[in-house]
Amino acid sequence: MNKKEKKKFLVFSAHPDDLDFGCAATVAKLTHEGHEVVYCVITNGEKGIHKINHTKQQMVKLREKEQCAAGAAVGVHEVLFLRQTDGNLEHTSEVRKKVIRVIREVKPHVILSQDPGNQRFDSFYRFHRDHRITAEIVFDAIYPAAGSKAFFPELISEKVHPHQIEEVWFYGTDHPNLFVNITNTIEKKIEALRCHDSQFHDFDNMAKHVYQNARTQGKKKKMTHAEGFRRLTF
Ligand SMILES: [Zn+2]
Repeated sequence: MNKKEKKKFLVFSAHPDDLDFGCAATVAKLTHEGHEVVYCVITNGEKGIHKINHTKQQMVKLREKEQCAAGAAVGVHEVLFLRQTDGNLEHTSEVRKKVIRVIREVKPHVILSQDPGNQRFDSFYRFHRDHRITAEIVFDAIYPAAGSKAFFPELISEKVHPHQIEEVWFYGTDHPNLFVNITNTIEKKIEALRCHDSQFHDFDNMAKHVYQNARTQGKKKKMTHAEGFRRLTF
């Protein structure tokens, strides 16, 4: 990507905080360079919470508030919520339609999302069902549906047209082929993660792991800290 060319990025995630773990430092770098970034969180994340005395509605509100603060910490322009039930996400035509509507309305050049190519099932957290389903829904929404007027023509209007994106960057991937140097923005990622206060028993220990992962990714390309992506272009 030409550095001077301003692009629009749309980042999907299953739960609030997934995208902060996956790519918040890259997002901070992109917004600093003048690119526009929009977040879209698919489920409420109301079950992944440690404040068990909260009602479901309070949990949903709290997690949205935390995600908006985390987005603001890295310069995100807008945060959208599709408000599906946490832990119960299914790959239905109805949910795919909601994702297609967002893609057509936001009109991004690049989409970031969880990686449907991750199939190792070697970690309960990473292979959470909602992560796997989100990855597949977004993949299938991008192609062929979002860019084709034959899919969901009822969504098309004077303002909303079929939209073909240029590329996808899958974060949290097992097979990165794009490494973003985040040495100058990793602290912003930590700041964003800190906004998800409901999620962490031991924030400092978690932050140590985030730094360690960034160093491991960076080593592959002689960078101090990096986030790795699997990039797929059209
Ligand atoms: Zn998650």
